[in-house]
Amino acid sequence: MLKKKKSLVTYTIIMCGLIMTVGIACLLFIQNSIVKDDMELQAYEKLSQETRQVRRFLYYDQSKTPSIVTEYYDRDEELENDDKIYVFLKSPDGDFIDGEMPDGCSGKFPYQSDIDVIGFNGAKYYILTRKAKVGLKTLENDNFVICAMVAVKDIKANYKVLWYRTYTVIGVVALFFILFAIGLKRLVAVPMKELNVAINRSGQNLDFTEKLRYDGPFLELDMITESNNNLYDRVQREFERQEEFNANVSHELRTPVAVMHAQCQLSREIAEKNNDHEMLESIAVFERQTTKMKGLIEQLLQMSILDKNNVNLSVEDVDLLDVVESVCDDAEYICKKNIQFCYNLVPTVVKVNMNLIVIVVSNLVSNAIKYSNEGGTVEVTCGSDSENCYISVRDEGRGISKEQKNRIFESFYRADTVRNTEGFGLGLSQVMKIAKHYGGTVQVDSEVGKGSKFTFIIPVDNG
Ligand code: ADP
Repeated sequence: MLKKKKSLVTYTIIMCGLIMTVGIACLLFIQNSIVKDDMELQAYEKLSQETRQVRRFLYYDQSKTPSIVTEYYDRDEELENDDKIYVFLKSPDGDFIDGEMPDGCSGKFPYQSDIDVIGFNGAKYYILTRKAKVGLKTLENDNFVICAMVAVKDIKANYKVLWYRTYTVIGVVALFFILFAIGLKRLVAVPMKELNVAINRSGQNLDFTEKLRYDGPFLELDMITESNNNLYDRVQREFERQEEFNANVSHELRTPVAVMHAQCQLSREIAEKNNDHEMLESIAVFERQTTKMKGLIEQLLQMSILDKNNVNLSVEDVDLLDVVESVCDDAEYICKKNIQFCYNLVPTVVKVNMNLIVIVVSNLVSNAIKYSNEGGTVEVTCGSDSENCYISVRDEGRGISKEQKNRIFESFYRADTVRNTEGFGLGLSQVMKIAKHYGGTVQVDSEVGKGSKFTFIIPVDNG
């Protein structure tokens, strides 16, 4: 079973996106941990500086209980400090004595020589505690403590610019990534798709004269285009060799086969006169085979005429409806199968060579009959729109597989490997050549076991 293939471009974009996301996540993680450490350091510096300051403004009453003198608060206002730092004194029993505490703070926490984070009322604070020294001397009762606190969010706010820049850089990188993805789609995926469509079209129409084109900036795509064009040249040369060979052989065989056919008729007349039944039987076989060979040679000659570039075939105003009706009348008459014919024909006059259109309709209708089952229906349609006119023949026969569909327009290709139906594998090749001669194409819609629809399309203005 074929594994479902992924688009190289989509895959590259997804992988680059993933690598970029992981890279950004790692950088954010590193920056976050650096910022966290730095915030702690900044908080420590601010709080330890503040505790040192407050020592200078301590006042001790008679009972050696400290309090903070008013000048300290006045100084604080003058400094206009950005971050709100709370400083307060605690007694040896842990009771609040003086200073300012954040709302909801109980002040009941143990002495901590290092910076710590505590949380209450849904907010977090850095806290630093120091003994209430006077100069370098600790108080007699050295259990008085100075606490300094600052809200984590206030310190965090100092990094706003850094985070703003980081997110701006991420935004710019993401924007570049989107541009890169769009560029990759436009410069690689779209040209690759177009090359693919062009190659498929050439393969389907067996037309390798139109060269592939790539004007983009990528060397690899240029190389693929060039190697395909080289391959096209070779295939086209092979086709031309084959066409030349067919033309030469059919030309050389035409006269001998015509002579053989004429001789058959003469021999039959003699055998009839002599009443020689054995001879008559053998002549009948000979005549059937020479008729078949004549048909093949005629078909090959017609094809070689179409193969010649700039061939000037006579044209006239042909009503497709008339051609379809007359060819189908004959086909219905000689049809040996039980097949129902239905028609949906619109008068469509177009300037073409009448014989070529007769060949098209005969080939498509005879194939529909040949590959239909007993009791099937064959539907023939003709008409036009503003640009094209068409003849389509639909049957309910055995259908064509996808692999066969790619080859049915090749000369001498027959999907029927048993070869139990008549034909040389030239009919569709001839129909395609005629379509291309008028700048058109032949479309096939088919499903194995359900039937096929062949549509011959040529431009209304094909001159
Ligand atoms: P042939 O003389 O073999 O019919 P064609 O060139 O007309 O040659 O067709 C090529 C092959 O395409 C046929 O051998 C047949 O397998 C397939 N084919 C053509 N028309 C039909 C159809 N209507 N239904 C199924 N297969 C078809």
